[in-house]
Amino acid sequence: MKRDEQIERLRNAEKVWDFVVIGGGATGLGCAVDAASRGYQVAMLEQDDFAKCTSSRSTKLVHGGVRYLQKGDVMLVLEALRERGRLKANAPHLVKDQTFVIANYTYWSNFLYFCGLTFYDMLSFGYGYGRSKFISKESVLRRLPAIKRDGLKGGIVYHDGQFDDSRLAINLAETCIDQGGVAVNHVRVSGILHNEHGKVCGVRAIDQLTGETFELQAKAVINAAGIFVDEVMRLDAPGHKPMVKPSQGAHLVLDMKFLQGQDALMVPKTSDGRVLFAVPWHNRVVVGTTDILREHPESEPRALEEEINFILQTAGLYMDPAPTREDIVAVYAGQRPLAAPKKEGKSAKEISRSHKIIVSDNNLITITGGKWTSYRLMAEDTIDKAIAMNLVEHRKCVTKHLKIHGWRPEPDLTSHYYIYGSDESAVHALEQEFIMLKDKISPKYDYTLGEVVWAVRHEMARTLDDVLARRVRLLYIDAREALRVAPEVAKVMAMEMHKSLSWVDEEVERFKGIAKNFIVNL
Ligand SMILES: Cc1cc2nc3c(=O)[nH]c(=O)nc-3n(C[C@H](O)[C@H](O)[C@H](O)COP(=O)(O)OP(=O)(O)OC[C@H]3O[C@@H](n4cnc5c(N)ncnc54)[C@H](O)[C@@H]3O)c2cc1C
Repeated sequence: MKRDEQIERLRNAEKVWDFVVIGGGATGLGCAVDAASRGYQVAMLEQDDFAKCTSSRSTKLVHGGVRYLQKGDVMLVLEALRERGRLKANAPHLVKDQTFVIANYTYWSNFLYFCGLTFYDMLSFGYGYGRSKFISKESVLRRLPAIKRDGLKGGIVYHDGQFDDSRLAINLAETCIDQGGVAVNHVRVSGILHNEHGKVCGVRAIDQLTGETFELQAKAVINAAGIFVDEVMRLDAPGHKPMVKPSQGAHLVLDMKFLQGQDALMVPKTSDGRVLFAVPWHNRVVVGTTDILREHPESEPRALEEEINFILQTAGLYMDPAPTREDIVAVYAGQRPLAAPKKEGKSAKEISRSHKIIVSDNNLITITGGKWTSYRLMAEDTIDKAIAMNLVEHRKCVTKHLKIHGWRPEPDLTSHYYIYGSDESAVHALEQEFIMLKDKISPKYDYTLGEVVWAVRHEMARTLDDVLARRVRLLYIDAREALRVAPEVAKVMAMEMHKSLSWVDEEVERFKGIAKNFIVNL
């Protein structure tokens, strides 16, 4: 995946694309893959990096959404469970079966959750992961040795999927390119073009790294800008009223000692009725809840003090010893693009998670809402919408069984290289080029300088943030260490990209500004 080649393909001003997709998160990448694999000419433009915003800041679950069952939203769960199964089949190198334990402190909860989760399993029939089962108090303690034992009455084990969100995004960009499409990061759409009838016919865009501008003509333009869809809709119709309400969720990343085993902990109802997950991920535990509504979208959201305190307090009720601020190795926040509630005063957990496709009077197609798990279905619906509007000729969706770049069955999860899937041997070959490339970027972790070069050369990483946050993920598993190694990593990137020492200094400064949001003040 070479950025220069992708940029070169944008320079053809005569070309009329079938689709231009705005936004390189889960939704935009999904649309680009869907369109490219149907044989359409598609260009996907991301203003920052692939998955820079919400799509790298998820809980990392591929799930049906057990909690929507409680609300009776069976169709939403059924849909998501099918997608959960498809994603595991299409990207087995990044999606794994994860067992979750619900620890119960009343017999009634044992009964209730067993019935609910058995129904969940029935809905996923044919797309299943493992089956749910009741487990005794002793078994809960064996599986979650750090859990509070006072009053424990047993538990339920159930299954969902777990994945690496930004790595999947990189692989989707690669899949789009493999299928003949264009996917490029650091290119911002700055304007929407209209024809003589006032209908959308393309976009104006700017390369954020070089300042080069482009005009792309297109039969259909898809707005998949996540929490920024309203901004793009205003480029089309300046009077557009905001439609999306950002809903923020925070996660704390802790040492594995707070979970010990490989089972995840799920608390279905916290003191304020939210859900809390503690999920093992890259040898850490990611702990997080559902969201709270925010007034304005932010590209670098910071976890609020009240969120950090709430997660610590709630996790402390289930983990022994209880984690403290000193134990937080990283914290991150993400904002969900939820369709704004019609009624004022609705909380984030009450707003529907299903996706919505909105067509403007000028034919701009906006897709919002939904979740990572359902990105494929959202994309299928969006491209079908463009077909139904007669913007492009009819072609059948082929993504249900389309293998995602990197596809490799049964990855070796004990090696940190598993995230590369079928590219792993090429990463090792690159590490052989120079002895230095086998060196670790930090003595505490296995990531190598070769992986940094790989990210720049083959995965379009252009900034320190691209490498440390979304290619090797060190920012998420140890934010202070990511900051410490940043100057060395920047030097290696500079060599690979023929940049000067002043670029290194500027890049490190810029990265410090981003990394501070991942560090909890003590
Ligand atoms: C806290 C939290 C936890 C979650 N956990 C899960 C989970 O465990 N499992 C799950 O299935 N789902 C989860 N979700 C939901 C899921 O992460 C989101 O639904 C999904 O990532 C949204 O993707 P998106 O592409 O719509 O938005 P984004 O990822 O935000 O992508 C939109 C992109 O558009 C780009 N953009 C904006 N304007 C422009 C422009 N003018 N030009 C070019 N590019 C532009 C942005 O830079 C951005 O990268 C979670 C969400 C949150 C907030």
